[in-house]
Amino acid sequence: MVAPIGTDVVKVGASPKRITVLGATGSIGASTVDLLKRYPERFAVEAVTANRDVKTLAKVATDVGAKRAVVADPSAYRELQAALAGTGIASSAGAEALLDAASRPVDLVVAAIVGAAGLAPTMAAIEAGSDIALANKECLVCAGTMFMQAVARKDVRLLPVDSEHNAIFQALGAGGADAVEKIILTASGGPFRDWPVDRLSEATPDQATHHPKWSMGKKISVDSSTLLNKGFELIEAKHLFDLAADQIEVLVHPQSIVHGLVVYRDGSVISQMSVTDMRVPLAFCLWWPERRNAPRKQLDLAALGTLTFESPDPVKFPGLQLARRALEAGGWATNVLNAANEVAVGAFLMGAIAYPDIVALSDRVLTTAGTKNFPSEMGSLEEALVLDGEGRRMAREALDGFGDIVQHKETI
Ligand code: NAD
Ligand code: MG
Repeated sequence: MVAPIGTDVVKVGASPKRITVLGATGSIGASTVDLLKRYPERFAVEAVTANRDVKTLAKVATDVGAKRAVVADPSAYRELQAALAGTGIASSAGAEALLDAASRPVDLVVAAIVGAAGLAPTMAAIEAGSDIALANKECLVCAGTMFMQAVARKDVRLLPVDSEHNAIFQALGAGGADAVEKIILTASGGPFRDWPVDRLSEATPDQATHHPKWSMGKKISVDSSTLLNKGFELIEAKHLFDLAADQIEVLVHPQSIVHGLVVYRDGSVISQMSVTDMRVPLAFCLWWPERRNAPRKQLDLAALGTLTFESPDPVKFPGLQLARRALEAGGWATNVLNAANEVAVGAFLMGAIAYPDIVALSDRVLTTAGTKNFPSEMGSLEEALVLDGEGRRMAREALDGFGDIVQHKETI
């Protein structure tokens, strides 16, 4: 059964819409800020946050006229204070300050922190009753069941930013939940789609982070290259749309124009298309329930000429099957997989492990975790964070078997 996401009561905030952007200095953050800047009379920005990039955060806060700017790293506080002196923008720092910023009730919180670090602040925003535009898919990979229960309990609206899920969300408007047979998420195939499998051991961080179609943060770029990103998106889709795992398929579509498809029981297939620009799904979420302009190139299908689709190669991209295995095993497994992958991607980006080791290490950690009888689902945020810490610990331990990492181990 495909459930609608959140309440059906349309909440239109007092104009202008009050917005908070968590992770405002990243790739999604920059696209969001670009939109907010264009319509200062329609959006009032409550808070913008970052990990520690003070320079970008101060600029973003000034550009959008935010009331408050927050860095998660407390050691960056003085620099932030100095950068915002005389602007009237409040500044604060540290984990509590980040939760406080996320908890200020607004009409919409754009959740764009990368990784499990975004889970606690996004949960704080839900607990405060704010609607969420969710880019931070790791929230659902880490603790999807608990996260969706909180969304339902607080009766907040959850709008998917991830382009595939945003596409599915839009296409689901064409039919009733019971009429859905399955959904299809598309994947570009990443930078290594045409590489022979035996060359992958040579893949460098630079090659893995240069995505052929999207310009994104480093972590999601590496995840896209291994297709673990698509695996995480299977998990994300399961939770967002309340589908069974076998109702969610993946198709490689190198042009990245068709983002998602809903196959209805009557044989109709409804898809959403757009140019590869995250401002399209972000504008959908920011304006929702209205539809308004988004700055972007025109989609020129005649110039493109051909759209192609193929099945993902399971030998080249074992990450996809690994994510399916975790999805079938339960919430503990997707949590641990996410933690292991975050550690593995960090190690790869530092040059400590080879490219194929990212998925191999995550696989090994998942297998070991399977012997530990973790509770199937996490009942609270605290439980989810404890398990995430345990997954990271196991991944660091497993790193011993992968390459010359000893000198990096403390910092990964
Ligand atoms: P990014 O690395 O460019 O930006 C991450 C943001 O999170 C930055 O503002 C950074 O300061 C902040 N951050 C990082 N670690 C933090 C911490 N420990 N505490 C607080 N803040 C922290 O990443 P991105 O590409 O913008 O991706 C953000 C999220 O959106 C990810 O979950 C990603 O999977 C998802 N997403 C991104 C895209 C895309 O096109 N970039 C598309 C779909 C989904
Ligand atoms: Mg996506």
